[in-house]
Order: sequence, then C-alpha cells, then structure tokens
Amino acid sequence: TNVNPAVAPTVPGNSDASRDVASYLHPYTNHATHEQTGPHIITGGDGIYVTDDAGHKLIEGMAGLWCTSLGFSEKRLVDAATKQLNILPYYHTFASKSTNPAIDLAEKLLEIVPVPMSKVFFANSGSEATDSAVKMVWYYHNAIGQPEKKKIISRKKGYHGVTVAAASMTGLPGNHKLFDLPIDRILHTETPHYWRDALPGEEEEDFATRLAEQLEDLIQAEGPETVGAFIAEPIMGAGGVIVPPRTYFEKIQEVLKRYDILFIADEVICGFGRTGRMFASETFRLKPDMITVAKQLSSAYLPISALFINEAIYQAVKKGSDEVGTFGHGFTYSGHPVAAAVALETLKIYEDDGIIEHVRSVMSPFQKRLKDLNKFEHVGETRGHGLIGAFELVSDKCAKTPFDPYGAAGKAVAAKCLEHGVILRALGDTVAFCPPLIITEDQIHTMFDAVEAALTEWHSSL
Ligand code: PMP
Repeated sequence: TNVNPAVAPTVPGNSDASRDVASYLHPYTNHATHEQTGPHIITGGDGIYVTDDAGHKLIEGMAGLWCTSLGFSEKRLVDAATKQLNILPYYHTFASKSTNPAIDLAEKLLEIVPVPMSKVFFANSGSEATDSAVKMVWYYHNAIGQPEKKKIISRKKGYHGVTVAAASMTGLPGNHKLFDLPIDRILHTETPHYWRDALPGEEEEDFATRLAEQLEDLIQAEGPETVGAFIAEPIMGAGGVIVPPRTYFEKIQEVLKRYDILFIADEVICGFGRTGRMFASETFRLKPDMITVAKQLSSAYLPISALFINEAIYQAVKKGSDEVGTFGHGFTYSGHPVAAAVALETLKIYEDDGIIEHVRSVMSPFQKRLKDLNKFEHVGETRGHGLIGAFELVSDKCAKTPFDPYGAAGKAVAAKCLEHGVILRALGDTVAFCPPLIITEDQIHTMFDAVEAALTEWHSSL
C-alpha cells in the first residue's frame, strides 16, 4: 500500500511552518496543539489528489470541506475565471446595477431548482446565505404584518455556519461556548439519528413520528404564532453525516404546514449532485420556501453562495423595500462577476460531463465499500447516501458505547488514514467521506483499501 509518512511536522526556526504558527490564526483549529504540530501545508492539486509540501500525494476524500466537486485541476474553471477577469474583474449589483454573469447564473439556477422559486440572492459563503435566510424570515413576517412570528427552529447537531445568526442555528456546543450564543429566538429540536437515538425496538418510521411530535410540542410550547421558520440540511454534514430516517421529512413538513412555518432547506453540502440528484430536495421530496447553496455551486474555485426565495417572500421584499426606500441587505461581492462566471461554468460542466449520472453510477460501489467497514470491531455504524458517508467509532459495538475521551479515536483514525494517503475528516468519533464527485470507481476502491489498512492498523494498536 501507499504508506505516506505524513506525520506532524516539527516547527523549526524559519520554516513555513513556524511562520504559519507565528502569524496565522487558523479557522476551526486547536491553537494550543497547532503551536506544537504546526500546519499541514498543501501545495498543489490534480484531479481528486492534493500534494503537500513534503511531496505526499493524497486522495482528498472530503473534497476539501465538502466542496471541490470537480477536483483540483479543472481547466475550464480556470479559463472561465481568466476570461471574466479580462472582461470585467468586478462590478457590484447594488441599486439596480447588474452584470451578465450574475444575470445568467440567477436565471440558470432558477431553471434547475426543483421547487418553484422566484428569485436568487447572491452572497460569498454558506454562512452568509443562511444568515441572509434568517433576515428574510424576520423581514418577511414584518412586511406581511406578523411581527411576532420570528423564532427559528434548527436541530441539535445541525450545521448552518458561523456568523452570529448562522452559528446560533448551528446546533453544536463548540460553536456556542465562549461566544455567548445562541442568540434569542433561535431554538433547537432533536437530531434525527435513528441508530443513536431510537428507543429499544422502535421502528425507523416510529422514530420519525416521535421526532415530528417533539417538533410539534416545541412549537406548541413556544406558541405557533411566534415560530417563523424551520431550517434543516437534507443530510446533516458537519454534525456527523446523519441521513434522515424514512418518512422524517414528510412528517416534519406536515407539522410546518399546519402552523404556517417557513421551511429553509440548507443544501450547502447536498446541492449539485452530492446525493445523486441535482438537489437533495428532490432526493428527500422537500418543498422548501427558501434554499441555501454554496460550495459545489462553484466547485469551491471561488467563493460564492446563493439563497433562493419563493414568490411570497419576494413579494414581501418588494413591498418592504418600497416602504423603506431600499432592501437594506447585500454584500460588496454579491453576484461577483468572476465568481458568478466560474459558478456558471461549473453548472455547464455538470451538464456537459454528465456529473450527476456519473455520481449515480459510482454511488453504489461507494456505499457498498462504506458498509463493508462494519466488519471492524469498533465501527459502530456506517451511514451515507449518494457520495457522502461516514463511520462512527465506538468502544462497544453492541452497547454503542462511545470512546472515552470522546473524539480521540476519530482523530487517531483520521491520522492513520492520512498516513495511508487519504484525507478524511474526524467529526468527534465519526469519520466522514465526501470525495470530489468526479471520483472514479477504481479510485473509490483505492481510497477504501487505504482506509481499511488504516483501520486494521489502528485496531491492532488498541
Ligand atoms: N451550511 C452547511 C450545511 C454547511 O455545511 C456549511 C459549511 N460546512 C455552511 C452552511 C457554512 O458555510 P461557510 O463555511 O461557507 O460559511
């Protein structure tokens, strides 16, 4: 096997590593550990592989952060960016200004979105898109004369980003502790994790019914007239790749309808083919009022995100902006022409190269190899759908007992996978896969062969 000794670098005097430690505050990093280990510096990319500064060629089993759908060397995206940089490198879209890439992209997105949507708003990151959705919920209810209907329900372990409102909706303790979050009016309901949270003997459908009832109880307790929206990822990503149990969204959507509560589908990870369809709203039959997308929208080559709004919300924006004189929301880079041109080209590649069909053809071998990991003593559950998946490590498989301390096993296994040439991401003791959508069946086997070798080594080290 391709054993890659990509061990933690030492941090000698004037190295890139020491300059990094001295100057760069990394996102989502343990800074005490980082000072000891230094960074892992990635210097190049080719297809599904990246190269580090020690010369290791690594399979990017997470597509970076669930985003580089077309891998790391798609020339058409480079050319689309270069072309637009030469034509018009920047213009804004405030106060009725517009650019052709922004118009083309908005139109194209409305053409492919699977539920009726009226308009597309552009931002730069997933967090900005979900944060904009929060503001839309508040703005909409003010504009239609229901100013008390402002609370937003998300789910424990949901991930919606890190700006103040987005981090509040994110249901992970690490995003709240020390930050004085969540803010008021953001509530969290239960995680739909059947394997972990079902009662003994409870069927999947009954578990889904119970979760819908719990949501309804929360709405009742808060007062339905105060609850404005519910936000959910079709498949929870950063919270541990949690696939909804059968009938879950059907039942949740019934509850939302009953109380006239808006539904926001956060497709920042799932959008653009991840689940084997263009949008996971198709896969799970969602009928959202708003959808957020980012990441695979541009294969991450440039930052761009989008928020779809339906006609009712658009009418409220129109009315409100006429009253106030403007719709007081938007970013300097909303609809940035170069990012929009790259996104448009990304969508063209998805069509020209049959990327969704390709995902459908490789997702079965991917899910089968993932399922096979259940043979390991400490793999408690494997789960996934399409080209996203994860395995969860436990100390006792039958009792589903987590390792103590929680998180160390996930970190150790991800480190072993790295030694074997595969970058995966540990989310606590869950190890996630989300490879570029262009991964071939052969590359899937190479990736899982390496992961199995890593798991074998780790098991024998226990
Ligand atoms: N929503 C979801 C579902 C995400 O997975 C993420 C990022 N992982 C975000 C929102 C936030 O996106 P960003 O990091 O671009 O702000």
